[in-house]
Amino acid sequence: MTARILVVDDVPANVKLLEARLLAEYFEVITANSGADALEACENGKIDVVLLDVMMPEMDGFEVCSRLKADPATQHIPVVMVTALDQISDRVRGLEAGADDFLTKPVNDLQLMTRVKSLVRLKMLTDELRLRASTTRNIGIEELLSRRGSMPEAVPQVLLVDDRPTSAERFAKMVRGRCELTLNPDPQAAFFQAAEGGFDCVILSTGLKDYDPLRLCSQLRTLDRTRFVPIMLIAGEGEEERLVRGLELGVNDYLVRPVDQHELVARLATQIRRKRYNDHLRASLAQTIEMAVTDGLTGLHNRRYLDSHLATLFERARSRNRPLSLMITDIDRFKAINDGWGHDVGDEVLREFASRLRKNVRGIDLACRMGGEEFVVVMPDTEPAIAEKVAERIRMQIAQTPFPTGTAGEAIEVTVSVGVAGIGPGVDTVETLMKRADIALYEAKNGGRNRVVAAAA
Ligand code: GH3
Ligand code: MG
Ligand code: MG
Repeated sequence: MTARILVVDDVPANVKLLEARLLAEYFEVITANSGADALEACENGKIDVVLLDVMMPEMDGFEVCSRLKADPATQHIPVVMVTALDQISDRVRGLEAGADDFLTKPVNDLQLMTRVKSLVRLKMLTDELRLRASTTRNIGIEELLSRRGSMPEAVPQVLLVDDRPTSAERFAKMVRGRCELTLNPDPQAAFFQAAEGGFDCVILSTGLKDYDPLRLCSQLRTLDRTRFVPIMLIAGEGEEERLVRGLELGVNDYLVRPVDQHELVARLATQIRRKRYNDHLRASLAQTIEMAVTDGLTGLHNRRYLDSHLATLFERARSRNRPLSLMITDIDRFKAINDGWGHDVGDEVLREFASRLRKNVRGIDLACRMGGEEFVVVMPDTEPAIAEKVAERIRMQIAQTPFPTGTAGEAIEVTVSVGVAGIGPGVDTVETLMKRADIALYEAKNGGRNRVVAAAA
């Protein structure tokens, strides 16, 4: 794992020190001597993690951090505050400024590496999601994410795994009003509870009786449903080795007892904020993909989806030696509807047509709008003779009931022509299948429209 780390400190000797240690671990290092330089480096240079000194003249670390977190272009870059004073108030201020973590000078080597590595891992995940979301950028993710700011967030749900009642009670008191805490003293039961979903964070005490807390961490990281739920460990003094292994397993953060309330609350907020950011990215990605394969007017799948999915369905049918049929429907004299009633009414007819089509096919059938007034229905596991019956039913549903126009009392008579074809002798590619259905459709049009023609086997 390599990454580009930005080290920011106004004292050159401090920069050199951190730089040397990071270089020894094969990280790429960029340096800055002031807050302004740091901001510039982050804007230009694909930074993966920022190690940020707190005490700097002109613009201090808190200010730099706040600015980075306020800018949609840089807010996803993890920031580690490096503070000279081991003061809780500084830590809390840093976390409130949006810092993802902090280190205390003199910086402990183990802490430096575990923190940096765990943040780099997180950053990679976020990068991947951002990349995928932006390559299919129909909607700006930045816009989507900033819109989120104006929406009320749901109360964070936190699962606490701790089998000591007094300690659990103390935690409950500390986070009261900040989140909804669910206590589960039994780690195995807690795993199943977490797997049911809905938690924004799992807090896990390492002092469990007869149970290795890291086992639960690894289980949570293995399961799809819980892979992205942040885990915070609450460890005792002298548990460094366990913490390192936990961080390697994907634990996101830890606190050492005695736990300070402000620090717990601030760290919890950081984890939840980060999880929600990634959740939003994932959701926007899913939404973008959905939009890319959906026809905006009718809500059916579009041609792009048909092209890729038909190939899959076709191969599956052939390899399993199962039938597969499809129909191409084309509304008759649709141009005349547009000309006579206007384009908007034409759109309305297309929507109504799509809705009737959808109602007359099975859930496993794939109904798509090819473009214009042409639709395709792919029917897996269906012989052409059955497909022809389905097509005939659809033809009747269209012809029998005139389409409402939106103006009271007026309706339009609509008819459709349909071509049907199926896998059979001579049909060994998607192209020949489509071609045959198309020829059948052409025959239906030539034969007088408002009819179904099945391709000759
Ligand atoms: P045929 O019976 O031979 O199919 O005649 P037709 O008029 O239906 O066929 P043609 O391909 O000549 O015309 C299709 C028309 O559909 C032309 C085009 O402007 C219109 N059209 C395509 N997409 C849309 C749309 O999204 N909305 C509306 N209202 N009209 C559309
Ligand atoms: Mg037409
Ligand atoms: Mg046409």
